Amino acid sequence: MDGSIFIEQDPFAPITYIYKISEILYHQKSDYQDIQVLKNDYFGKMLVLDNVIQLTEKDEFFYHEMLAHVAMHAHENPQTVLIIGGGDGGTLREVLKHKSVKQADLIDIDGKVIEVSKQFFPSLSCSFSDKRANVMPMDGAKHIRETKTRYDIVIIDSTDPVGPAKSLCTDEFYAGVKNVLNDTGIFVEQTESIHFHRDFIVEIQEKWRKLFNIVNLFYVPLATYAGNWWTFSIASKKYQVTRPNRKKEIDTRFYDEQVHVNSFVTDAIYQKLMTNKLDW
Ligand code: SAM
Repeated sequence: MDGSIFIEQDPFAPITYIYKISEILYHQKSDYQDIQVLKNDYFGKMLVLDNVIQLTEKDEFFYHEMLAHVAMHAHENPQTVLIIGGGDGGTLREVLKHKSVKQADLIDIDGKVIEVSKQFFPSLSCSFSDKRANVMPMDGAKHIRETKTRYDIVIIDSTDPVGPAKSLCTDEFYAGVKNVLNDTGIFVEQTESIHFHRDFIVEIQEKWRKLFNIVNLFYVPLATYAGNWWTFSIASKKYQVTRPNRKKEIDTRFYDEQVHVNSFVTDAIYQKLMTNKLDW
């Protein structure tokens, strides 16, 4: 990184984003990844792992609200939640806004990310001290294999499917997720951008359709992720997911009932995406 700029290296994207940097607040290698906390005048503090932006103070809520609240409102009474990844705490903060939640397990392979978030991102890591939260540094795939807990909601908030996150996108892992979900369980995962990562999205959707009857794709506009039209794959054992199944009773800055409904990819685009007929 040049002294005053940060050049993002996203392993999957045919685009390079460059940010002016006013300060380097942290830069260390953990056992799993290179961790940086950078400061930009517009986006505020930015968490960067292996040279890919994970979140910025300015726009993190778009991502964390949508990753959490579409699934949490599609479920009628989510009480036990598992978050794999999400060591910054943003998704956990959103999940714990729901009074119905009795237990939220956060499993991030890298305890250093949890520590760095506590030090530099108090607005995200504020939820770690909630008595309903169990925050454990561990490989999410190992937890899925070993846990005896059965969850209403499983959320994958991991880095891109390379490096430590490779274990989170295998057939065995997804079968394990289905196994730890209750009969009314819902599963959601960030699945990259429709502009740049279609093959990955189609691969996940096809894998999940072999395991779940209800599978769909929704998205959020996100300035700081490569390709910006950022998707989430969602699967459900019982509930329809394209609209909330209970009233919103929490404060949010972006998510609401209408955003929930409008965030799903249209049937026409979905069909073309899944049959490789999108001509843009
Ligand atoms: N919002 C970001 C995104 O969409 O790319 C993800 C943020 S969060 C910081 C990503 C986390 O996934 C990292 O803290 C990383 O340590 C964690 N992670 C990667 N592989 C993992 C694994 N196998 N088990 C658990 N956590 C993992």
